[in-house]
Amino acid sequence: MTKVMSFDALKSQAASLDIRRQAFINGVYVDAASGRTFDCVSPRDGKVLAKIAECDVEDVNRAVAAARAVFEKGSWSEAAPGKRKAILMKFADLMAQHASELALLESLDMGKPISMSSGDDIPLSISCMRWYAEAIDKVYDEISPRDPRAIGMITREPLGVIAAVVPWNFPLMMAMWKLGPALAMGNSVVLKPAEQSPLTALRIAELATEAGLPDGVLNVVPGFGPTAGKALGLHDDVDCVTFTGSGEVGKLFLQYAGQSNMKRVWLECGGKSPNIVLADCPDMDAAAAAAAGGIFYNQGEVCTAGSRLIVENSIKDEFIEKVIAQGKKMVPGDPLDPASQMGAIVDENQMNRVLGFIEKGHAEGAQLRTGGNRVRTETGGYFIEPTVFDGVGNDMTIAREEIFGPVLSVISVHDWQEAVKTANDTPYGLAAAVWTRDINKAHLAAKKLRAGLVWINCWDGGSITMPFGGYKQSGTGRDRSLHALDKYCEIKSTWIALGDA
Ligand code: NAD
Repeated sequence: MTKVMSFDALKSQAASLDIRRQAFINGVYVDAASGRTFDCVSPRDGKVLAKIAECDVEDVNRAVAAARAVFEKGSWSEAAPGKRKAILMKFADLMAQHASELALLESLDMGKPISMSSGDDIPLSISCMRWYAEAIDKVYDEISPRDPRAIGMITREPLGVIAAVVPWNFPLMMAMWKLGPALAMGNSVVLKPAEQSPLTALRIAELATEAGLPDGVLNVVPGFGPTAGKALGLHDDVDCVTFTGSGEVGKLFLQYAGQSNMKRVWLECGGKSPNIVLADCPDMDAAAAAAAGGIFYNQGEVCTAGSRLIVENSIKDEFIEKVIAQGKKMVPGDPLDPASQMGAIVDENQMNRVLGFIEKGHAEGAQLRTGGNRVRTETGGYFIEPTVFDGVGNDMTIAREEIFGPVLSVISVHDWQEAVKTANDTPYGLAAAVWTRDINKAHLAAKKLRAGLVWINCWDGGSITMPFGGYKQSGTGRDRSLHALDKYCEIKSTWIALGDA
C-alpha cells in the first residue's frame, strides 16, 4: 500500500501535478496529427483537468507502424527472457517510485477514493507487472510425446502488434492485466485508454521507456472509441485486440475483426453477478458486509459487482436490514479525502445513466429501501448514494441490465435450487457467490453456476494467480494467471524427423 497524505496535502499536490497531455508514440510524446484535443474532466468537481491529444486514424497508423517496426527489428520480440524480465521489473519499480502520483492521477481522473487507488489499484497494477516479469524465464516450451525417430517441439511465439483497449473503472489495473502478459511474451502494444481516464496510461508510458523498453514497444493513443478505438479494431496490421469494456463495444470489435484481417479478439465484458445468500449462511454479518462492499465498492463501477443479491426468503428481511446498515456507512465523499469510502461516478453521462436505472426501478415496481439520489451537487461533481431496491423480479430492467453504479437489486427465492436457476438466468456469466455452511450445497452450486469466477462464503476472492473472465456474454479468454500468456502468442508445432545416424 502506498502512503496516503493528508487531505490538504493531496489537494495541494493535485493543483501542481505535471499532467502528460500528449500521445506517446515510438518513445516520445507527440500531439495528435490533427492537432485536436479533448477535455479531461474530473468527476470530483466537473472541472477540466487537462486538454488531451485526441488521437484518430492517422495517429493509430503511426503507433501501429512504430509497434510493427520494433517487433520486426527484434530488440524486444527476440530479446533473451532474462533481459525482458529485468526491464519489466524495472518498469514495475519505477511505477512503485511514482505510486502516490499515479494514485492521485487515478482518483482525480475517474473519481475513486484515494484510499482505494493508493491501497488497491496502484499496488495491484505494480504487482501484476512484477508477476508477469517474473514468469518470463520460468515458463517452458514443450516436447510432445512422439515417435522415437522424431522430435515434436511445441513452442510459443509472440503474436506481433497487440491493441489493448481498456475501460475507465480501473484504468491502470485493466491496462496492466493486458500489458503484463502481452509484453512478457515479446509483443509490441498500442494502448488506448478510455477517454474518461487517460492520465495514468500516459504517465506510465515514459516510465516504461526509462526502464529500458525499446521505443515503439509501448505506445499510448488517447482518444474516443468510435475513432481511435475503431481504427485499432479495423487495422490490418494489428494482430490482436485485447479489450475490456461493455458487451456492446465488445461485439463491435468482433465485427471489426471480421471486416479486416480476422485478428484475434479477446473480450472481458460486463456482468450482472449474483450473490446468493442461503438461510444456512455461516456468518450473516460478514455476508452483509461483503454484499454491501460487493456493490458499493468503486461506486459500483465494477464488472464483477454483486448487483443481484439473491436471498432465501426466510432470512431476507433480517439480511436486507444488515446490508442497508453497511451501505449507510459508505457515504460518498471527496475522492481526495483519505476518509472517503465512496467517490464520484466517472462522468455526467454515467451518473445520468445510473439515475435513469433508478427511475426504471421505481417505474417497474421495485421498492426503494435506501438511497436513490444524486448527492454533493454543490461540489459540481457526480455523486450517487448507495441504493438498495427490494422486491425485485429477475425480469425487471434493474435485474437484467448492467447498471455500473451503486444500485443493488434484492431478489428473494425459496431454496438454493431456485437461487441457482435465477442466478443463471442472465446473458452474463462473470462472477457469482454462494453463502452456505453446507459443503454439498456449496460444491453443487459452484458446479452449476455458469460463471468464470465462483466464490464460496466470500465476495471477490482471488489473486493474480487465478484466471479472470466470463462465460456467455461476459467475454472470451481469461486475464490474470499463466493462462493469460496464451492469448498473446502463437503456438507452433515443429516436427523434426530424425534420419539414421
Ligand atoms: P466501453 O465499452 O464504453 O469502453 C471501453 C473502451 O472501448 C474505451 O476505451 C472506449 O473508448 C472504447 N470504445 C467505445 N466505443 C468504441 C467503438 N465504437 N469502437 C471501438 N472502441 C470503442 O466501456 P466503459 O464504459 O469504458 O467501461 C465499462 C464497461 O467495462 C462495463 O460494461 C464493465 O462491465 C466492463 N468491464 C469489464 C471488466 C472485465 O474484466 N470483465 C473489467 C472492467 C470493466
